[in-house]
Amino acid sequence: MSSDLVVVGAGIVGASVACHAARAGAVVTLLDAGRPGAGVTTDSFAWIGLGPSGVRTGPAAALRATASDEYRRLEAELPGLPVTWSGSLSWGAADGAPEAGPGQEIVDAATVAALEPALRQPPEWAVWTPGDGAVDPVGVTERLVAGARAHGARVRADIPVTAVSRDAAGRVAGVETAAGPLSGETVVLAAGVATAALGAPLGVSVPVDPSPARLFRFRAPAGLVRTVVNNRDFDLRQAGTDRLLAAADSSERALAAVRSTFRGAADVELLSTRVGVRPMPADGEPIVGPVAEVPGLYLAVLHSAVALAPAVGRLVARELVDGAVEPALAGCRPGRFQGRDSRKA
Ligand SMILES: Cc1cc2nc3c(=O)[nH]c(=O)nc-3n(C[C@H](O)[C@H](O)[C@H](O)COP(=O)(O)OP(=O)(O)OC[C@H]3O[C@@H](n4cnc5c(N)ncnc54)[C@H](O)[C@@H]3O)c2cc1C
Repeated sequence: MSSDLVVVGAGIVGASVACHAARAGAVVTLLDAGRPGAGVTTDSFAWIGLGPSGVRTGPAAALRATASDEYRRLEAELPGLPVTWSGSLSWGAADGAPEAGPGQEIVDAATVAALEPALRQPPEWAVWTPGDGAVDPVGVTERLVAGARAHGARVRADIPVTAVSRDAAGRVAGVETAAGPLSGETVVLAAGVATAALGAPLGVSVPVDPSPARLFRFRAPAGLVRTVVNNRDFDLRQAGTDRLLAAADSSERALAAVRSTFRGAADVELLSTRVGVRPMPADGEPIVGPVAEVPGLYLAVLHSAVALAPAVGRLVARELVDGAVEPALAGCRPGRFQGRDSRKA
């Protein structure tokens, strides 16, 4: 790998890779087919911390455990990053006894009522994760892009990449774009759901499924919801003084649940519905690392990427610019799909 990088995709993942790599001294070009942050990043509920993936085990557990700390680091590096540290409360989403991991505690109904005073009927228990929060995902992406620029990166919007180009030896030589070729010794594919289509002509299978999810905006009284609330009905949080954001299956059910769950919510009304298509790796774990068969090609595609983008960006930059091999990415390597049916990996 070389520090002459072309990053394809300026969602929150590509923007983070570009920002961290440029700051580490790489010569970076960041390209997007549209506007930075306008992919699925713009439709994210954007819960960050320990809670969002709901998974505490598995190959990327170490990565997930650092999500809040990595955001706090990034806040210090990029002042004004749009992050709200509200904590999160989860209850009733899974059957069985409550389980709290590190950084979480089981709280009783009185504590839940103190944290969410508008709840009609606080649950008997909930998992409280005080270090969780939420972000404005497009705002974070824009700050990362600005950070990349400030460290000398070239950022080009509205330039679709049509192919990754290779030299006679099969090594990555850059990309073909709608505006002409661009050379680069390393190409990072961070194109979300489009990553598989860019890898295919190279013979690289990137097992990522498009996974649609709905995001609803509601008009709501100021301060109705104080934390990030997660239960069987929705992921819910305040986003602006008189706005709620909900990730849920149906607007009608989510609206009915908001009205029945909170006092003073009778007038809550639906403002918009969006369907975002998430890049979902076949085994649910991030796909981050070099592709052995195509020297110079590096993949960065993952779910829960708003939460993980600061960590992934920093670690990828360490690998590409400093030549490190990051143990936290060991379970994320593209090579795990080689030699078997990737859908069963
Ligand atoms: C309803 C919903 C709720 C969610 N909630 C959460 C949550 O609470 N927490 C969390 O962490 N995650 C959440 N997610 C998931 C999160 O939004 C995604 O994991 C994340 O935004 C993916 O970022 P990305 O940069 O990989 O993809 P994208 O934002 O899609 O970025 C990829 C970029 O690549 C560009 N691109 C594609 N093809 C090309 C090409 N050929 N040439 C140039 N550019 C190209 C696109 O234009 C796009 O800008 C949620 C998603 C949805 C839909």
